[in-house]
Amino acid sequence: MRKKTRCFEPGIKYGRLTLIENVNKKGRYFWKCRCDCGKITYLKAGQIGTNTNSCGCYKIESHRTHNESKTRLYNIWCMMKARCYRKSSGSYSNYGARGITVCEEWKNSYESFKEWALENGYADNLSIDRIDCNGNYCPENCRWADNSTQVNNRRPFGKIPITGIIQMKNGVYLGQVTVNGKRIHCGSSMDLNVAIKKRNEYIKSHNLPNKLSEINELK
Ligand SMILES: [Zn+2]
Repeated sequence: MRKKTRCFEPGIKYGRLTLIENVNKKGRYFWKCRCDCGKITYLKAGQIGTNTNSCGCYKIESHRTHNESKTRLYNIWCMMKARCYRKSSGSYSNYGARGITVCEEWKNSYESFKEWALENGYADNLSIDRIDCNGNYCPENCRWADNSTQVNNRRPFGKIPITGIIQMKNGVYLGQVTVNGKRIHCGSSMDLNVAIKKRNEYIKSHNLPNKLSEINELK
């Protein structure tokens, strides 16, 4: 931890507090401070610049921000479900209509969605991003990303020499097949073998004529 020698002189500023004068109140010394918000407050020298940098307004504001972020997260949860299940939602055609769902755990409980969000780096400037953009909303396929990350990661990073497998910029392998000119995503994984398995299983279960992916194509 950084240790700083604190200096107490009129005019010196700590956070939002400007020291005005050292005053004696009933035998004890206090610093009279003016807060940026306009309030005058009296503090012991030991409090200034350590755990107190405002008249108390900072704490109130950050508490308010915390409450707002709870609301923001709640809105994200509601909008995610609307995209997948509410036909009147403007985005339904890109989500629900394409078969994208929210996992049961998140769908039924805001609390469990919130728990995942807070444990996985949620911040107020981030939005929920599906790693495989054809995959569902579930813990394995979601993360918090800023807008530039979201755009970058949707762009295929590169073809790898295995039939039907591409690698995304974030390292995720994506299996795809082309059926009647339409590209279908068959599943994704950080593990190449898993991505291959998912693609092959998709081809077999749908009786598709597409060539199966093989790990030894890499050689
Ligand atoms: Zn204040």
